[in-house]
Amino acid sequence: MSETVREKAPLNWVTTILFSVTFAVAVTAVPVYGFLVGYDAVQWLMFVIVLAFCGMSITAGYHRLWSHRAYDANWLVRSFFAFWGACALQNSILIWGSGHRRHHRHVDDIEKDPYSINRGFWFAHIGWMLRNYKSGTVDFANSQDLQRDPIVMFQHKYYLPLVLLSNIGVPALLGYLHGDIVGTLLLVGVLRLVVSHHVTFFINSLCHIWGGQPYTNTNTAKDNFFLALVTYGEGYHNFHHYFQTDYRNGVRWWQFDPTKWLINALSWVGMTSNLRRVPDFKIQEALVQMQFEKAQAHLSLLSHLPNMEAWKENLEKEYQQFVQTMTDWKKLRAEWYEQKRQEFAEKKQELQDKWQRAAVRTRFMEMEYMLKMQRKRLQLFNMNFASFA
Ligand SMILES: [Zn+2]
Ligand SMILES: [Zn+2]
Repeated sequence: MSETVREKAPLNWVTTILFSVTFAVAVTAVPVYGFLVGYDAVQWLMFVIVLAFCGMSITAGYHRLWSHRAYDANWLVRSFFAFWGACALQNSILIWGSGHRRHHRHVDDIEKDPYSINRGFWFAHIGWMLRNYKSGTVDFANSQDLQRDPIVMFQHKYYLPLVLLSNIGVPALLGYLHGDIVGTLLLVGVLRLVVSHHVTFFINSLCHIWGGQPYTNTNTAKDNFFLALVTYGEGYHNFHHYFQTDYRNGVRWWQFDPTKWLINALSWVGMTSNLRRVPDFKIQEALVQMQFEKAQAHLSLLSHLPNMEAWKENLEKEYQQFVQTMTDWKKLRAEWYEQKRQEFAEKKQELQDKWQRAAVRTRFMEMEYMLKMQRKRLQLFNMNFASFA
């Protein structure tokens, strides 16, 4: 183990007191007040709405917009995310984004990933913020684009007043209007903050421990439906670590990803734009590749069984086909871009081109279908062997 892991960095008093006090109030004063005085439905509704505002400002704003540039948003959306992101109290966009980019670049590295899971659950969840670790040193060299966004810089400069205004001012005002300042401060101020904190922290801790790895096993990130339910869709973390520039984390249409739906809905009214999507073929490629790895692992585990040579041959043939499909796809895509470039240069709009375009599209669809069928065959293969193992 490296020195860094055993490093006893100096305590960060601000975060330690903040996390301890808010947690202590959430588990004592909040239920006691609820028992003695009670909270009404309107207060619970305010709790849920402010919780969602903070959560989505982190997932859609801090994370997918600013850290990954997965889409563009107008100033109104960015201001909203900047304000409620300050309310989530996870540091400024600039500091958060810079650290998160380092997390992706050096994922799992105990020296360079600021919240590496290889330093344990506690460290990845909250421990990394409680001490001034070397791995957490702030360096904005990777965030020059963020420094050019005036809203990011405004939030960074006035972070503390924004935190106080959103965390104390807003709940106090809501409480005043509702007629119960203390209760609203406890629920919308403190409990909301603690829930919001730990739910987002799960993305760095549990999402690197618990779940499946359908897209890649080159890092610890996992896909987990249950975590997606409480993290506004960020539980599909395995996909995210492989295709980080995609604005979706739950990439399939049926996967629970409210952040993706929000970004999409805002694009219909022109408030977000340039939503980045990884080509479907690339996603299929990753899925098939992982199925091959699983099949290989099964075969090597079961090499003592009879008829294994035939299975190995089958798998080898499948792999050849896979490599061929990928090569054909890359070639076709290059041709497609070349054709588009020529069309653009010559500005021709002839019927023949349309016919050609349709033919190319059909070939793309054929390849996608082949890959999909191959994935299904491999899944069956793996299911079969999983019952042996
Ligand atoms: Zn990310
Ligand atoms: Zn991660």
